[in-house]
Amino acid sequence: MKNILVRYGELTLKGANRNYFVTKLINNIKFKLKAYKEFVSYTKDNNSLTLTVVDNYVEIVIEKLQTTFGIYSLSVIEKTNLNMEEITNAVIKIAQKSTNKRFKLEVYRKDKQFPLTSTEIKQQIAPIVLRTIGDLKVDVHNPNLKIEIVIKKDHVDIFDTRLVALKGLPVGVSGKGLSLLSGGIDSPVASFLTMKRGMQVDFIHFMTPPHTSTEALDKVFKLAAQIAKYNYQNFSLYVVDFSMLLQELNHMPDQNYKITLMRRMFVRIANKLAFKINARGIITGESLGQVASQTIESINVINSTSILPILRPVLTFDKEEIIEISKKINTYDISILPFDDVCSMFVPKNPITKPKLKVAEFNEQTIMWEEILEHTMDNLIKEFVWNDDKFEEVNK
Ligand code: ATP
Ligand code: MG
Repeated sequence: MKNILVRYGELTLKGANRNYFVTKLINNIKFKLKAYKEFVSYTKDNNSLTLTVVDNYVEIVIEKLQTTFGIYSLSVIEKTNLNMEEITNAVIKIAQKSTNKRFKLEVYRKDKQFPLTSTEIKQQIAPIVLRTIGDLKVDVHNPNLKIEIVIKKDHVDIFDTRLVALKGLPVGVSGKGLSLLSGGIDSPVASFLTMKRGMQVDFIHFMTPPHTSTEALDKVFKLAAQIAKYNYQNFSLYVVDFSMLLQELNHMPDQNYKITLMRRMFVRIANKLAFKINARGIITGESLGQVASQTIESINVINSTSILPILRPVLTFDKEEIIEISKKINTYDISILPFDDVCSMFVPKNPITKPKLKVAEFNEQTIMWEEILEHTMDNLIKEFVWNDDKFEEVNK
């Protein structure tokens, strides 16, 4: 058995919400580890959680914890009673794992009842450790083995490594959002960043068969699956057949406004769906100035069809910065597969870069979009639920 200490970090600052946040985090962790539940037990104390894990599963459990938002850092720890001999033995056990080390002891007394001060604890333990392990040297300025002793109310945690985790907030504490997921690089990153702040994310994708291929759709499923490990327990991907609306848009006299109007339709549909599924915000991968449809004028004209707030986590990011994150979360290689989605396929010759709301609204009056949009909402949306690591279609 090994003990893994999970630190909450920012969560400890959240006052009244704290209990709710911590409970959510623990539920998320338990859900994630449900396949290993016979091998893991949980002990909660004030600012942390300790998982006791059967040796063979330590690595996989750490991996899962490192993809869980709301965890600040992790340590594999030795846990002892409030007893100097036990503490000393645990320090020796950790120090013995490595040879030729420059060593430093760090002591934190979370509970001041303990009879010795931090300095006294160090002064008692260090000489014994040095005597027991021959090739250890003390180096308080530049150690390469730092052993930390944390004295708590009813036990002591001892460890030499703090593994970084994702930080952020437990997914679910910020409600639900609906993310417009294309097959591109930006929208998976935007979705991931929204999850980071505790929002669980459902996805909506617009396709236009037969113009868009099954591979293009497959890509979207793969992207959502790739970031599933950061998301809430179960989530949905809605696939909208946008063909009829696209046909209507193709009849519009002023084709330069097509992309703008297409976006306005996307946002209208996303709003209607969001209300049905209790999502409180819409997420896109828009980045200011990146392409014609992402100027502030375009964003305004598209935005005005939305009742819900549109969250744009990568608005201020350079493409390079977005790519860096997409590589980290392993969506990049999927995103760059060469299958086009509806937007990339139907770009008019001269898409308007600074659309005007009045002109957009006028153009909308030249087509019959309302009924088609209703029809699309009622008949052309399929829902897929992520369940046990795969998508299943939900039959209406
Ligand atoms: P991405 O890399 O996310 O595709 P992009 O730079 O290609 O973004 P656009 O194609 O202009 O940008 O799309 C802007 C945003 O609109 C996307 O980030 C996404 O949120 C949404 N979007 C675009 N196309 C679709 C689609 N077919 N289905 C769902 N959402 C879409
Ligand atoms: Mg795109």
